[in-house]
Amino acid sequence: MNNATLKERDLAVLWHPCSQMKDYEKYPMTPIKKGDGVYLEDFDGNRYIDAVSSWWVNIFGHANPTIAQAMKDQVDQLEHVIFSGFTHEPAIELAENLVKITPPGLDRVFYGENGSSAVEIALKMSIHYWQLMDKPEKTQFVTLENGYHGETTGALAVSDVGLYKEPYETMMFDVMTVPSPDCYYREEGESWEEYSRRQFVHMRKLIEEKHETVAAVILEPLVQCATGMRMYHPVYLTELRKLCDEYGVHLIADEIAVGFGRTGTLFACEQADITPDFMCLSKGLTAGFLPLSVMMTREEIFEAFYDDYETLKAFLHSHSYTGYATGCAVANATLKIFREQPIIENNQELAKHMAQATAHFADHPNVAEVRQTGMILAAEMVQDKKTRQGYDWKERRGMRVYEYALSRGALLRPLGNVVYFMPPYVITPEEIDKLADIAWKGIQLATKD
Ligand SMILES: *Cc1c(COP(=O)(O)O)cnc(C)c1O
Repeated sequence: MNNATLKERDLAVLWHPCSQMKDYEKYPMTPIKKGDGVYLEDFDGNRYIDAVSSWWVNIFGHANPTIAQAMKDQVDQLEHVIFSGFTHEPAIELAENLVKITPPGLDRVFYGENGSSAVEIALKMSIHYWQLMDKPEKTQFVTLENGYHGETTGALAVSDVGLYKEPYETMMFDVMTVPSPDCYYREEGESWEEYSRRQFVHMRKLIEEKHETVAAVILEPLVQCATGMRMYHPVYLTELRKLCDEYGVHLIADEIAVGFGRTGTLFACEQADITPDFMCLSKGLTAGFLPLSVMMTREEIFEAFYDDYETLKAFLHSHSYTGYATGCAVANATLKIFREQPIIENNQELAKHMAQATAHFADHPNVAEVRQTGMILAAEMVQDKKTRQGYDWKERRGMRVYEYALSRGALLRPLGNVVYFMPPYVITPEEIDKLADIAWKGIQLATKD
């Protein structure tokens, strides 16, 4: 078996996600044979540093032996069991631990299968709660410009991703979208905090006017990942928590990408010292091993649904793999690593090293900004640094970085013209230096004409 034969077999039968399949004529896919820590290895023996954590899911390296063992032990004992009327230890242990480590007040755990389903669960639960509270008029959701919450219809409806959404507009419900606190657009000399506060005015105005019909605000705390690692200051979350309390609106924190240490704290909400009404977690939850998600909420919300069967107040949502036992066991192994090793502290060093290794990027004539929040670092390529005029999307400059990086042994997958690092936490300072070198040369190549 080699790369070429696998590519051929793949193209004959497969349809890949987030891809124009014809692109594979120009940008061939890479068949991966095995993973080892921060490395991926293809069938021709080439190795690649996985700088994007395989779409942000991997946190402790590929084929991590501790997690792999926990998974093997669980499948030998009980792979899964119906989670309605039945329960099992991995699900209970995971819920207990999540309640302990998430912001205080998130005391109930509802399992889902992937990130999108956790978002759907939060949206449905919020609307349903308001009906139970005799406020059926609260049906609308407020979202942020450039927000991303998944691809299923409800999750897509609350996302602001034009191209990905437009063909399905007839399947979507209307949402109210406010300008993002994305600090890329701050004025010269303006701090992240000042800009995030300034942008909060839009949110305040909308909630003040529309709160009677608003069920919830949904956002990604601190970093809007999918739309280009767009970052903002925690003060926006602190202010939003106050505003939602003042007007009786739910706050849904989608920590699917930013949770489990990505932003420098275990959860991004910690930096604003807030507890959302609903929190969605997935991706890092299972360290990149299995799909699993959780939606956590407050006891008061749970109690609104708790009544005699005949009152018909139950929350009837389910998936075949709700409470997936093997997934829960893998998540427990993941949390154990967080408990036993100083991951967050080590990440601070790694984050510092990422900043140092890329400090010179900001001087590049076609890099408008290098921004960082914890273990996420992004460089924005532009045509004109002064006006921040971006490149024509048709030029696909990010793909040039992608191609170059692959040829040098790194998986860097820019989001449009944003080149970013979001590596597994087992990366070493030397590997970061190598990535920085590859990214720097890739940016030079991609911007040279
Ligand atoms: C990835 C992601 C989702 C969707 O998760 P899936 O597992 O892909 O369905 C939702 N929200 C955010 C912020 C994400 O990054």
